[in-house]
Amino acid sequence: MSEQIKVVLTEDDLPKQWYNLAADFATPMAPPVDPEGNPIGPEALAPVFPMNLIEQEVCTDRWVDIPDEILGYYKIWRPTPLYRARRLEKALGTPAKIYYKNEGVSPAGSHKPNTAIPQAWYNKQFGIKKLTTETGAGQWGSALSFACALVGGIECKVFMVRISFDQKPFRKIMMNTWGGICVPSPSMETEVGRKILAEDPDTPGSLGIAISEAIEQCVQAEDTRYSLGSVLNHVMLHQTIIGQEAQKQMQMIGDNPDVVIGCAGGGSNFAGLAFPYINERMHGKEIRIIASEPEACPTLTQAKFRYDSGDIAMMTPLLPMHSLGHTFVPPPLHAGGLRYHGMAPMVSHAMNEGHIEATAIPQTECYEAAVQFARTEGFISAPETSHAIAATIREAKRATEEGKEKTILMNWSGHGLMDLKGYESYFNGNMEDYPLPDELLEKSAASMDGLPMP
Ligand SMILES: *Cc1c(COP(=O)(O)O)cnc(C)c1O
Repeated sequence: MSEQIKVVLTEDDLPKQWYNLAADFATPMAPPVDPEGNPIGPEALAPVFPMNLIEQEVCTDRWVDIPDEILGYYKIWRPTPLYRARRLEKALGTPAKIYYKNEGVSPAGSHKPNTAIPQAWYNKQFGIKKLTTETGAGQWGSALSFACALVGGIECKVFMVRISFDQKPFRKIMMNTWGGICVPSPSMETEVGRKILAEDPDTPGSLGIAISEAIEQCVQAEDTRYSLGSVLNHVMLHQTIIGQEAQKQMQMIGDNPDVVIGCAGGGSNFAGLAFPYINERMHGKEIRIIASEPEACPTLTQAKFRYDSGDIAMMTPLLPMHSLGHTFVPPPLHAGGLRYHGMAPMVSHAMNEGHIEATAIPQTECYEAAVQFARTEGFISAPETSHAIAATIREAKRATEEGKEKTILMNWSGHGLMDLKGYESYFNGNMEDYPLPDELLEKSAASMDGLPMP
């Protein structure tokens, strides 16, 4: 028999509950507040989210039952396989063992349907007929379009960051195939969009702008709510199904991670794998947990922990998070899903409590890593995912230098079959890195001046 490559679970092994890290923090998280610093109650969120999801947003129970119907949808692609990257290990000549959880097997191609399905389902339960949302690289818009199609009876409207809309035309067609509607952002459909286009007709757009547009359209209709693919507590909660499956799979293969790695944009795929392992860490296991982000959008490594708005028009409540400032428009790097100015409050809090560390990596190093991964493991990675691979390769090389065996577990958050433009510019030698000048960081951080402090 040749050596084992993947660990698969049966449908019966699907976790039946989501894990809520909020139950286990040593100190409570700061609440969302209004611009005067007053905590915002659940009612204030009601025009934007359905009450059943707001309840999850503020929930501090350790375990939340996954409704049977949602488990039924999860079974379309879950449990996802865990792989041992034997061929990559060999190419690197490392004593480290490398495992990766393959979240690219979902219909939309990433981890995002793990929360898109429950969000569509809870909105439907609440009687909602239409969801508005934003998307960066198009992964979230695809995932929510897919979820609305399956759950049924909910329209899906997606504002897609202009630069990605132009770079990735096939994402829109995926959304259309699932019945979703996709427009480039900023658009002429909203007040915010028209204002930004008047000031800067050539803006590449940003997630912060697209969120403002989606919320503006949402609050104008009674039967419409807004849906966010990352950042919020209930999104982190839904994603923990990843780490819980990984724990079972690592047990089955008789191994334990010393290092857990995920790429971090808003923080959801990272949280999904990491939070169950932070729980192990809280119970005495020695595990290093590393979030990998772009050098061009260094939220965890360079931004301060502040109250900031989730969007450019400041329509969201202020959230306690590491933030580059809500006016931050990141350079046009290919990892569209990692171009967000803030980090999930739960991931930020885990960082403040010392459970995780962060690293920032230039995009050319990430593409080099993704190409090596494709030529050894076979799978073509999303540009976002390449940041996790590059961090994993750095750790594996460190193991070689130190002559240490160690076990690395990485979240392979999605495939890159819709994102080949980035590979093309890498092969053409046209790819640039974007280390951020201090003035630019200072300028966007200044947009938080005068906001309350956590
Ligand atoms: C959206 C996306 C990310 C970044 O979002 P997080 O909320 O940080 O997970 C990472 N990888 C892939 C494949 C994505 O689609």
